[in-house]
Amino acid sequence: MSDKPKSQTVLVVGGGIGGISAALEAAECGSEVVLIEKAPTLGGRVAALNRYFPKMCHPTCGLEINYQRIKKNPRIKVFTMAEVSGIAGSAGDYTVNVTTTPRYVTPACTACGDCANAATSEVADPFNYNLSKVKAAYLPHTMAFPMRYIVDASVVGTPEGQAIKAACKVDAVNLEEKPDTFTLHVGAVIWATGWRPYDPSKLTMYRHGEIADVITNVEMERLASHDGPTHGKVLRPSNGEAPKKVALIQCAGSRDLNHLAYCSRICCLASMKHAAYVREQYPEAEVDIYYIDIRAHDKLEAFYRKAKADQGIRWIKSKPSRIEKGPSGEPVVCGENTLSREVYANAYDLVVLATGMQASAQPPAGAELDEYGFVVSEEGVFGAGVATGPLDVSMSVQSATAAALRAVQAVRS
Ligand SMILES: Cc1cc2nc3c(=O)[nH]c(=O)nc-3n(C[C@H](O)[C@H](O)[C@H](O)COP(=O)(O)OP(=O)(O)OC[C@H]3O[C@@H](n4cnc5c(N)ncnc54)[C@H](O)[C@@H]3O)c2cc1C
Ligand code: SF4
Ligand code: SF4
Repeated sequence: MSDKPKSQTVLVVGGGIGGISAALEAAECGSEVVLIEKAPTLGGRVAALNRYFPKMCHPTCGLEINYQRIKKNPRIKVFTMAEVSGIAGSAGDYTVNVTTTPRYVTPACTACGDCANAATSEVADPFNYNLSKVKAAYLPHTMAFPMRYIVDASVVGTPEGQAIKAACKVDAVNLEEKPDTFTLHVGAVIWATGWRPYDPSKLTMYRHGEIADVITNVEMERLASHDGPTHGKVLRPSNGEAPKKVALIQCAGSRDLNHLAYCSRICCLASMKHAAYVREQYPEAEVDIYYIDIRAHDKLEAFYRKAKADQGIRWIKSKPSRIEKGPSGEPVVCGENTLSREVYANAYDLVVLATGMQASAQPPAGAELDEYGFVVSEEGVFGAGVATGPLDVSMSVQSATAAALRAVQAVRS
């Protein structure tokens, strides 16, 4: 960049822990920041975790304090249900088009819930990975920021929509709202668009969606969460009973040239956490972890040692070849133990696939991507959090701080 930056504003795209951290760091360094998030609330995928390692805290620990910092910082403007629809220019001088999707509820909402009581239909709940349903007028989740309801588009133009509107005493339901586009002029862009779980339907040998008691690791987080579909009890989806024998299958999609060629870095530790969820709730339950090799990075080796010390967890070195349906519909994990060479077919009450982390569904407009779809930072455009590759929360925050400092330097040079 040769000329003086034309705009000193930093745009952060994605309001997960990475984007929130980058926005706060840049704003607390004195820059004006616009944070745009495509979902109805901030928090990203961390908000949907039950607890997070290594300290096993609830996500409120990390998120709530950041929401307070955002509220108190007049330099940060937040837009939810907003996405970048176009970007042009170069470092120091970007023109960005942002498109918003209607929420049908204005900032006047007091989160009283009367609209949800008036709603009669239900829609799939994306926050619970569609494991449950919510009313067509709903709060995205209990920790939502902003704490504002949303009306599902399916009821707009229907008598139910009118009943929802009539139920709101502060007139916060606006069914006339339309998609909108506005333009921003910014000097630097931070892409913090995060990740999505690898699609388990592509792992046909593991029969997710076909055998009810085969779930994914992100679904396990919701089952274990007090505000999840089973109110925090890990239960078998097939019959609602407590599982006595649970299998966790590592590298479900990752380290596989037919799926994700890289290691997703977090899923070994996430599975150890899931073993702990099961063992805490059901001390008599047995947990088997099927692994190629265990990857516990840096200081998280101690977390691994703790899991290893639990006699209720069995470690089976093997990549299962398939899951079959047992006589009662239960999942039977089949394969060969690569240490003992034993060929096994083990029945379980519940199987959890440690599906990997893939770059977010929509590639950031105008960003350079590596061969796996993760953002590569360049002059004026910086990646933060899992948009740059698989990272845990603390590494995501570190990468966000680095991106914020580089963006601040770029708009001030
Ligand atoms: C099963 C599992 C368990 C885990 N447990 C732990 C744990 O216990 N401890 C730990 O440290 N880490 C854990 N992790 C990792 C943790 O989830 C990530 O480190 C964290 O989510 C990274 O945050 P992020 O902001 O980079 O991405 P995300 O959380 O994905 O947030 C990205 C945000 O960007 C938004 N977005 C995406 N695209 C756009 C767009 N085009 N425009 C606007 N907004 C957009 C998304 O809606 C989202 O809100 C776990 C991961 C998995 C798979
Ligand atoms: S939209 Fe109205 S009725 Fe619904 S929660 Fe908000 S204030 Fe209450
Ligand atoms: S972190 Fe573990 S489960 Fe995840 S891809 Fe790497 S080795 Fe496999």
